[in-house]
Amino acid sequence: MENQLHSETAKLSLVGQHGHAIDVSTPPAKVGNAEEVIARLPAVLQTSLELDEMIGLFNREVSKILSYDSLHYQHQGTHCDISSGKRKHHSCNYRLEMNGLWLGEITLTRRTKFTEKDTLLFEDLLCKLIYPVRNCLLFRQAQTAALQDTLTGLNNRGAFDTSLKREVDLAHRQHAPMSLIVLDIDHFKAVNDNYGHSSGDKALQLLAKSLTDSMRLSDIAFRYGGEEFTLILSNTDAKAAHLVAERIRNSVSKLSCNDGNRSFGFTVSLGIAQLAQGEQGASLFDRADQALYQAKKSGRNKTISAD
Ligand code: GH3
Ligand code: MG
Ligand code: MG
Repeated sequence: MENQLHSETAKLSLVGQHGHAIDVSTPPAKVGNAEEVIARLPAVLQTSLELDEMIGLFNREVSKILSYDSLHYQHQGTHCDISSGKRKHHSCNYRLEMNGLWLGEITLTRRTKFTEKDTLLFEDLLCKLIYPVRNCLLFRQAQTAALQDTLTGLNNRGAFDTSLKREVDLAHRQHAPMSLIVLDIDHFKAVNDNYGHSSGDKALQLLAKSLTDSMRLSDIAFRYGGEEFTLILSNTDAKAAHLVAERIRNSVSKLSCNDGNRSFGFTVSLGIAQLAQGEQGASLFDRADQALYQAKKSGRNKTISAD
């Protein structure tokens, strides 16, 4: 059974299992203390903006008045996949949408068939879920955007500070090696001066793509600021990090940008430091940055590892 729950700005309308619009002003048949649960549901769901937690609250409330074995919620855009209980044969499935905004899909399953009374009750409950889901998804989007660099799509400086602390703590706890690469474009001011600022922007985007192509899935790349980038490499010692850095340096040196008339290339300098015993993120960053400074001083287009 698959239905559509669709909300417009002016009117909330449900497309039921037989394809007809359901008037939400006509309350469906209720079981147990359904009215009480429905009445307090908006207030309960409002208590959290975390999608997982809010769906958990919905599940808790709905299970009090509707009998089912499992509840599943999926929203592919945000890689959200929440499941509670074991899937059974019969299912009742709704797509949630509001003003063209995709809000995900929710499914209940159980051993026995869902009756029309059950689905009407579930639709009534879903009417209370749709706005909280929208709010949670918007909150999630805003959280992601706050950690992302708009030009390159890489993680930004704010994300770097948080990730560095987390990865350093993890490496110490697991007694695992960890390395940091700091990378800076050589003579980037000249690129802007010669080819224009928008060509400079395109070069930054190309570099970001080249970085993500050259690293492993477990590595994390950041635009630290301006034309400076960092890479956190977990489970990686300085020697392995040096290989990664050299791979990046080589592939960047082969990139070709274009200002509309002329093609141009550019190079990068890289500094590497491996996390020392008991060292904190700030000190690791300083050592990698010092190594980068040495790479610049010794002629650029170079990789230097800190001692
Ligand atoms: P060095 O080899 O010593 O690093 O020289 P450099 O010219 O790269 O260094 P400098 O710090 O003098 O200049 C950095 C330049 O990067 C200047 C600035 O305009 C440019 N830049 C920073 N952010 C952006 C950006 O978002 N877009 C563009 N197009 N340029 C940027
Ligand atoms: Mg530079
Ligand atoms: Mg710089």
